[in-house]
Parts: sequence; C-alpha cells; structure tokens
Amino acid sequence: MARLSQKYPSFLEKTYQAAERAAWALNPLIAKIGYRRVERLIKPVEDFAKEHIFGCHHCGQCILHSTGMSCPMECPKNLRNGPCGGVRADGHCEVKPDMRCAWVVAYENAQQMPIYGHELIEIQPPVDRQLENTSAWINLLTGVDKQVPAGWVPIASIDVAKSAKE
Ligand code: SF4
Repeated sequence: MARLSQKYPSFLEKTYQAAERAAWALNPLIAKIGYRRVERLIKPVEDFAKEHIFGCHHCGQCILHSTGMSCPMECPKNLRNGPCGGVRADGHCEVKPDMRCAWVVAYENAQQMPIYGHELIEIQPPVDRQLENTSAWINLLTGVDKQVPAGWVPIASIDVAKSAKE
C-alpha cells in the first residue's frame, strides 16, 4: 500500500510549512523551558506521526521537505543524494523489488510541491549517526542538524579540472 506521503505531497508540504513556522514562533519559549525537556514530551508524538506517514527511520536530521516528502532513509542504501544506479525499469528498488524507489517517489512528489519542490537538487551532507533517535524538530531549532563534518565539501562545488591539475 502506498504511503500517505506518496499520495498527498502538496498537502503535506503545506502542513510542514505551518509546523515549521509554529516551531520557530515557539522557539523562545522552548529555549526557556529547555530543549531536552521539550524533546521528551514531543518525541513520542513526532515518532508516531512520522513513522505512520513517512516510514520514518528516526535519523534526527529531517530533510523530508527537500526530498519530495519521501524519507531518504527508506532507501536501503540510505542515500541522501540518491538515486543509485540500480533503479529498476518499473521505478522499483534494486534491493527491495516490492518497494518503489524512495528517490523516484521524491522526484514525482517534488513536481507537485510548489513551495519546497525546487530543493530536491540541493546537495545534502552525510547523515550524522549521532543524531539518530533524537527529535528532528528540536535539532532544527538548535541548529545541530545543519552541522557538517569538518572538511566536508559538496562534490558539485569542487572544480574537478582544477583538482586534477593540483
Ligand atoms: S529524514 Fe530522518 S527524521 Fe525525516 S522522516 Fe526520514 S528518517 Fe525520519
């Protein structure tokens, strides 16, 4: 059965936008209460909703709105800048033939998402495994989800010709 995220991408992106605005509006209050305290309260709700709607794997570094509301961690290879070269002709996964490729779904959904669809081409840093099983919403507010490993450079910004000469 198709996930809700595969059926209603446009509705889900609007919901995400509203939730993000509310999170930033509440941020000063959340900071006062304490991020870890609030995390204990919201994490079960966040987990339940995301598991059922997106098949969330709790990476703690949510990029759903940049990937057509299709969870990249559904990809058995955990690619954050997919797809791999093994997508089947019918758009299904190389590793799990019963499943549609998370990146094919991401591409199709992004076409129906006027607010965030263009973000699909953004290059995502490697997932930080230390954030696993923490609240992605709290990580968004504290900014830890934006930290990238020291020395990491998006490959598309590397001048390959120049690097080859050096
Ligand atoms: S990107 Fe991470 S936090 Fe977002 S739905 Fe997928 S596993 Fe969950």
